[in-house]
Amino acid sequence: MRDRLLAIAHKFAYDNLSHGTTGNISVRDDDGRTLWITPTGMPFDVLSLDDLVQIDIATARVIGGSRKPSSEVPLHTQTYQRRADVNGIVHTHSLYATVFSTLNRPIAAVHYQLARVGDEVPLADYATYGSEQLADNATKALGHGGAVLLKNHGLLAVANSVEEAYQNALDVEWVAHLYFLALQIGEPDVLTHDEMQRVRHQFEGYGQKS
Ligand SMILES: [Zn+2]
Repeated sequence: MRDRLLAIAHKFAYDNLSHGTTGNISVRDDDGRTLWITPTGMPFDVLSLDDLVQIDIATARVIGGSRKPSSEVPLHTQTYQRRADVNGIVHTHSLYATVFSTLNRPIAAVHYQLARVGDEVPLADYATYGSEQLADNATKALGHGGAVLLKNHGLLAVANSVEEAYQNALDVEWVAHLYFLALQIGEPDVLTHDEMQRVRHQFEGYGQKS
C-alpha cells in the first residue's frame, strides 16, 4: 500500500495537478483501520517510504512515521469513515477545477470522460482548510460520487484504489479545462444522465483484454 501511495505521489509532482507542496494523497491500509498519508510541506517528487505517516481512521491520531502529516487529515479520515468502498483519496488544488470551485458552479458533464466520476462534480460549502467542518461539508456533498469541489479551495477525488482516485482527479481537471475553454465562446451542451449511464456501462468493457 505504501509503495502504491509513493508511486502516485511521484507522478503527482509532474502531472500539473497541484503547485508546490499543496495537495495530499492517502491510502487505506489493508488492516482497514488505518490510513497512510503524505507529509505536510514536502515536495512530492522526493518523498520516500519513511516520509509517509500512518493515522488511525477512527481517532485521527498519528500512530506511525516520523513526519508531521498533511493538514487535511480530517478530510481523509471522515471520508474513509463514511465511505467503506473508498480505499484511496487524492486532494488537489489543480487550476481549472479550482476555478470552478470559486464560481459556485459544479463541473457539468460536457464530455463523457467525466463518467467514472459521476454526472457532474458537485460543490461543497466553504470552510477553512484542515477543519472538521470542511471535512463534514466535503463528505456530505460528495455523497456516493467520485469527486467533489471544495469551495474556493480545490478538489477531492476518491475511489476504490488510489490509482483510480488519481485517474478521477486527472479526468476532472481535463474536463474542467475543456469546460473553461468552451465557456469562453458560449454555453456548452451537457450530456444527459442516460447517456452518462450508457458510457459507464461501456467503460466496463474498455481497454486491452489480458
Ligand atoms: Zn487543500
